[in-house]
Amino acid sequence: MTNETAERSQPRQRPIVPFLRLGEGGEKPYLVARKCKNCGALYWGNRVACARCRQQSGFEEVRVSDRGTLWTYSIVHQSMPGIPVPYVAAIVDLPEGISVRCTLVDVEPDPAKLPFGMPVEMVTRKVREDKDGNEVIAFFFRPAATS
Ligand SMILES: [Zn+2]
Repeated sequence: MTNETAERSQPRQRPIVPFLRLGEGGEKPYLVARKCKNCGALYWGNRVACARCRQQSGFEEVRVSDRGTLWTYSIVHQSMPGIPVPYVAAIVDLPEGISVRCTLVDVEPDPAKLPFGMPVEMVTRKVREDKDGNEVIAFFFRPAATS
C-alpha cells in the first residue's frame, strides 16, 4: 500500500524515441543502436534487412558512446509555434561510426562558436508531459566539459 503511494507521487519518465534508454539505478542515460550481425553496420531503430550488406542476418542492440564530435549543423530561425528559436540542429558523429541528429544545447547559435569537430556530450532533459502525466525525456548534445 505504501509502495503504491510512493510510486504514484514520483512522475514516470519515458524516452521520446525508442533508441534512448534512461538508465536505471543512477546509471546515466544512453543511446542504443542496432548492429547488423553480418557486417556490423549500425542503425537507429528496427529494420528488416541491412542497407549495407543486404542480408537479413538479424541485429543486436549495442550501447553507443554519449560523447561524439560535431559533424555539421544549421541554425534554425523559424520553427513550429511553441518551439523557441533560434536553435542549433546538428549531426553528431559517435565513435562507433554512426551519426545522430540532435539539437545542440548550452551553446550560442553563432557559427564562430560552433567549430566542426567540437567534442560534445549527450544530456537529457524533460521536454513536456504526456497526457498521462509522464515526463517525456529527450536527448540533446552540448559542448563536452573539458577537464
Ligand atoms: Zn549488414
